[in-house]
Order: sequence, then structure tokens, then C-alpha cells
Amino acid sequence: MSDDGLSRRQYLTTVGGSAVALSVAGCMGDGGSGGGQTITAGTAPGFPPFEMKEGGELVGFDIDLLEAVVGQSDYELSGWEEFEFDSLIPALTNDNIDVIAAGMTINEKRDETIDFTDPYYSSDQAIVVRSDGDFSPSELADLADRPIGAQSGTTGEGVVQDELVGDEISESQYNSYGNYVLAIEDLQNGNIDAVVIDVPVARTFAANRPVEVAFVYETGEQFGFGVRTDADELTSSLNDGLATVRENGTYEDLTAEWFGE
Ligand code: GLN
Repeated sequence: MSDDGLSRRQYLTTVGGSAVALSVAGCMGDGGSGGGQTITAGTAPGFPPFEMKEGGELVGFDIDLLEAVVGQSDYELSGWEEFEFDSLIPALTNDNIDVIAAGMTINEKRDETIDFTDPYYSSDQAIVVRSDGDFSPSELADLADRPIGAQSGTTGEGVVQDELVGDEISESQYNSYGNYVLAIEDLQNGNIDAVVIDVPVARTFAANRPVEVAFVYETGEQFGFGVRTDADELTSSLNDGLATVRENGTYEDLTAEWFGE
């Protein structure tokens, strides 16, 4: 194979540097004791610092963490495919990808369709507003009769649907976006007055754009990698890999790098 001379890191960097998804077969050069089975990961960029595009390259905490975890296993990561968030579970169940790494919250509804690895990050929901200060809600009731946005298929959307729509706001006041970046841009433009989004991502947007976290709505969510229900071997390899990267300091290095924790 022509890629035998590449280290795993170089190889993954090469793949990660491509604008679109790649699927490269037969990269078993530095595989472990197992058969070096290849897997493809799926994510939804626009969710910083978990996954985003920088200079055309897919980067982020989820990218580095999954690559480190898979690096501990007998599997080989052949590359990343990009989707809108609400297409990730169908892509997994249709065998287009083998694992989801997308800041995806483990919850009962999703658990009916897919499996999750052990949790690797915790989050609550943030209510984000423009930082000009003329709207400063401190609880959900303060969002009454305001246009609100979230990303389609997310737990943030779930908070809006379950806690606000039909009560504090009308159905038409809820704006669903294919991507959180579009929701934040609409907030900046004044088309909506608040976005409901995971806290670490809200803080990243707030550090880079004229928006701020008005308050946090505690949901106690935990993120896991999504896997097919029939992929028990992969799931347990990923869980072993997660335990190893927590023990060997890699997890701590990555949280320091991406969250400054
Ligand atoms: N954690 C949220 C969810 O699982 C949002 C994830 C995301 O937008 N990537 O729905």
C-alpha cells in the first residue's frame, strides 16, 4: 500500500484536511492485533468547539477525541462525512457512516433507534441573546411572545417545543434552522431574539460574535458517540478507548486545548 509510510497522525491529518468526505479502503498498515476493520465517522460542523470548519478543514474536540479513541482500538478511521445534524441518525442506520461524533446528547428517544458509547462530555442549554443588552431574559417565561431559534432535531429544539411552544410562544414564533450558525446569524440580524443551544457552544459563539449567554436552563445532558444497535464490538472498543484516553491524559489535554478547562 502506498500509505504504509504515513504515520497514523499524518494519515488522519491528510484525510481531515479534505473538504469533503473521503472513504479510503485498505488502510491496514498500522492496525493493531485485530483485522484493522475500517469505520467512517459522521459529524455536523457549525457546532464550535466540538466540530467546525477552519480554512476548509474539519477540526474540533469531537474530531480529536474520536481519532484518539479509535487510535486505541483495532479499528481504523477511514475518514469523516459531514451532514446536517438531523441527518446523522438516518446516515448511521443506513450504513453510510459507522459512528456519530457530533456533541450528541444521549437520550431515551434516540436510544430507541441507536446505541451510545459511555458519556464523554456534560452540557446544559443556554439561552443566547444579542449582547446589545436591550433584551435580558433570566428565565424561560421571559421569552414569552418572542421569536426563538434552535437547530432542527436538537435537544435545544426540544426545550423550545416542550417548554415554550403553545404556552409562552406560538408555533410560528419558533424558528428551526438546519445549522446553529444560521440561527446565531439570524439572532445577530435581529430576526429572532434568542437561541437555545448547548452551553459550551453558546460560550464559543459569545467569545467570537456580538451575542451572550442570558441564562442557563439546566438539562443535565451527556454527550456520547452514536453507534448502530448491532455494533456491540465497536461500541465496547470505543468505550475501552474512552477509558484509556481519560487515564493517559489525552482527554485532559484535549479539553484544555478546546475548552481552556
Ligand atoms: N447536544 C444537542 C443534541 O444532541 C445538540 C447537538 C448538536 O447540535 N450538534 O441535540
